Amino acid sequence: MRETIKINDVCFDKEEFKAVEEVLKSGILTDKNGMGPKVLEFERSFASYIGVKYAIAVSSGTAALHAALMALDLKPKDEVILPSLTFPAAAEAVVLAGGTPVFADINENTYCIDVESIEDSITKNTKAIIPVHLYGLPADMDPIMELAESKDIVVIEDAAQAHGALYKGRKVGSIGDMGCFSFYATKNMTTGEGGMITTNNKEYAEILRAIRNHGESRTNWNTRLGHNYRMSEIQAALGIVQLKKLPDFLEKRRRNAKKLTEELNDVDKLILPKEPEGFTHAWNLYTVRVKGANATKRNKIVAKLKEKGINAAVYYETPTHLLPFYMNIHNNVKKDLSITEKVSHQIFSLPIHPKVSFEDIEYISKNLKKILGRM
Ligand SMILES: *Cc1c(COP(=O)(O)O)cnc(C)c1O
Repeated sequence: MRETIKINDVCFDKEEFKAVEEVLKSGILTDKNGMGPKVLEFERSFASYIGVKYAIAVSSGTAALHAALMALDLKPKDEVILPSLTFPAAAEAVVLAGGTPVFADINENTYCIDVESIEDSITKNTKAIIPVHLYGLPADMDPIMELAESKDIVVIEDAAQAHGALYKGRKVGSIGDMGCFSFYATKNMTTGEGGMITTNNKEYAEILRAIRNHGESRTNWNTRLGHNYRMSEIQAALGIVQLKKLPDFLEKRRRNAKKLTEELNDVDKLILPKEPEGFTHAWNLYTVRVKGANATKRNKIVAKLKEKGINAAVYYETPTHLLPFYMNIHNNVKKDLSITEKVSHQIFSLPIHPKVSFEDIEYISKNLKKILGRM
């Protein structure tokens, strides 16, 4: 029996083991302000990699989104526009921060938020837009920034899946007012759990550091509402090593994605992922679409791949606006999300992480072609 090919996998070697051991031996596991030596080093190197002035390490990608939204001091009527075809953390963070999520539709070619749909969603209450760089492909940031600037709306990039992705030569996370990253175990680099907010805005950086630590502007002086969103020294030590390896991880993902595209290019029934001119994909997920399929047919294909030891997976089976908790909120401002709904029935993702070999890619494409041929 072949070993199952996982949809994502962690890549650690002795460097990560050594880094964690050093922290454990040092006895400094965390810092009361969340600014221990490893966290500060990780923040500095991450800011430099992304090309921003400030990076604030937090305990998860969701914490990053929540802290970024808390920094805006939202009021209950304030609206935040975001896509529905994504992990629900962004919508959740909007609700936690006291605002109202407004879901926009996606572009049918990129699966990222559609600029026209954002425009249609803007009201006098719109305070922020959260473009998600879905699967690692940047959202079309130039028109989004232009629109936001003209209306004094804040842009928070959800770059949780897109470390190292480029939009017209700029790293994602450096384009909007703030960028949010996750270091969860399935992302392109990991600290187990962890997150980061990037920004060029000094005021946001100060507010975010306070929010990370119970709203303290200095020790034991709480000037606003915050949380315990500190990153531990153990996580930061892992992050420092993983960030050094990120370019190599990205190269391997790109190589696998290219190979998979070569293998599947002649399959009429599939729409393969695109990388438009000027966009550099970070390939966190290689997501294909079955032309004309409904969810039942798509799920059957995924189940058959799993029988062959290929852990294909659906991201995301239910768009956020159709999940029980978000359905009622969406109903108040209901709009057309037909592309989101159609695409969500037809997509599934295939493994391309750095541990996937060319032989695995051939095995995946051979089996997928067979399964599609029999349907
Ligand atoms: C993973 C992810 C998050 C949440 O990050 P966590 O670290 O799991 O909290 C948010 N948005 C997107 C698009 C993600 O993929």
